[in-house]
Amino acid sequence: MELIVAKGREDLVKARRGGAVALVPTMGALHEGHRSLIRQARVRADQVVVSIFVNPLQFGPSEDFSRYPRTFDADLDVCRAEGVDVVFHPDAAEMYASDRQVSVSAGHMGSIVEGAFRPGHFDGVLTVVLKLFNLVQPDLAVFGQKDAQQLALIRRMVADLDLPIEILGAPTVREPDGLALSSRNRYLSEDDRQVALALSRALRAGAAEFTPARVRAVAQEVLDAAGSRLATDYLALVDPATFAEVDESYAGPAVLAVAATVGTTRLIDNVTLTFNPA
Ligand code: AMP
Repeated sequence: MELIVAKGREDLVKARRGGAVALVPTMGALHEGHRSLIRQARVRADQVVVSIFVNPLQFGPSEDFSRYPRTFDADLDVCRAEGVDVVFHPDAAEMYASDRQVSVSAGHMGSIVEGAFRPGHFDGVLTVVLKLFNLVQPDLAVFGQKDAQQLALIRRMVADLDLPIEILGAPTVREPDGLALSSRNRYLSEDDRQVALALSRALRAGAAEFTPARVRAVAQEVLDAAGSRLATDYLALVDPATFAEVDESYAGPAVLAVAATVGTTRLIDNVTLTFNPA
């Protein structure tokens, strides 16, 4: 089947076939991580829609919106190769009326951990995702665990606003040396890349420990050992559903999350671990 490129609501309505629809929201510059999400969608749905939209609302004024990689033609090739049915590629003007008023608030959970360093980011993410849900009307949507707080907030939005959409989380795809794939990795020089490996190394080392205090301490040691070229924003050990820091008596799954800048590139990564009851 020919890949359909939809620019707006009417194109999406025309492309609808019946059967289960899966949406994979992306900002493009597609890599193996995105491909794994598309494959998961393919397994579960009759029709797969990939959205490609660099959402201005989720970038802060000093962030990398204008230099975010845009590789639309190559992205179309990836979508064709993965058997995607529809690529939704709206213009910013199509998505956001200049006099728009109403948006989604991510609440307290959007202002902690990653949200503390990117004010308004999660409001922008949830607003665009809700709009994409309303435009595409999928039965299910696939998001990466790579952006764990985003995934948790989307699950909350679906629960809190009663959206009739199943949310699937997909595991983080990594390079053989551990670096989590990211569209922003292409900004890294070979030297930067070596420094950036401290993120996944710290998470692996932390996840091998058995108490919250040890997990934090061991991961922090690895980050410190990377030296001054790695500027860490946070290392957080949190409840995956709320992103609240876990205490020493915590039992159950937890997310160890890190954000750091290498050169001019800001990277995030996380792993999930489980604490057994004492
Ligand atoms: P982005 O294009 O960076 O906004 O990401 C689009 C989707 O791909 C999000 O749900 C991300 O969590 C997911 N994603 C990004 N990188 C990876 C990765 N390395 N492994 C799995 N999913 C990823």
